[in-house]
Amino acid sequence: MNPAKRSEIFRRLREANPKPTTELEYATPFQLLVAVILSAQATDVGVNKATRKLFPVAGTPQAILALGETGLKRYISSIGLFNAKAKNVIATCRALVEEHGGEVPREREALEALPGVGRKTANVVLNTAFGEPTIAVDTHIFRVSNRTHLAPGKTVREVEDRLNRVVPDEFKQDAHHWLILHGRYVCKARKPDCAQCVIRDLCEYRHKTAAA
Ligand code: SF4
Repeated sequence: MNPAKRSEIFRRLREANPKPTTELEYATPFQLLVAVILSAQATDVGVNKATRKLFPVAGTPQAILALGETGLKRYISSIGLFNAKAKNVIATCRALVEEHGGEVPREREALEALPGVGRKTANVVLNTAFGEPTIAVDTHIFRVSNRTHLAPGKTVREVEDRLNRVVPDEFKQDAHHWLILHGRYVCKARKPDCAQCVIRDLCEYRHKTAAA
């Protein structure tokens, strides 16, 4: 795909949604971090349902530590993999309190050293809580980048690196939100909604769907 097409894709996605953000609900970087840890293989809607009850009671690392693992599980038991996630959240809270003064670190290396925090979670926190122009590649972005030929790659890391190289700077801060939302609601996994797609003429997917 040529650079002019790429720019036009982001220009149109921006026009349709000038201020995109995550659908996870949070009030602080810490709450965003917890929500992202909980969201692995779960929907944002399901995570929000749980955190709406959890955060008013325990919205800081200290308060979640005070709840303890068993107490935390009561709030998040509707979320998939909640046992492992509860362990990770408690261990992360402990590390934040003991090593970072109860604050979420702003450096990638320190974030990725936290239990349950991988590259994708670190990218989301760096981007959405701290305003860094990082691109967190999830299943939606991976699919959209490959289908459209915007930034094809065999692995998540390959797609992330390519997006970092080819997305024009003016779109970098919001690129991952636009691509996630586009993948979640339009360029869906099973059947993309090509007839309703604002970038249909720019997309290089060979098997575009017709209107129903
Ligand atoms: S035209 Fe279809 S395949 Fe291409 S981005 Fe739009 S929805 Fe996805």
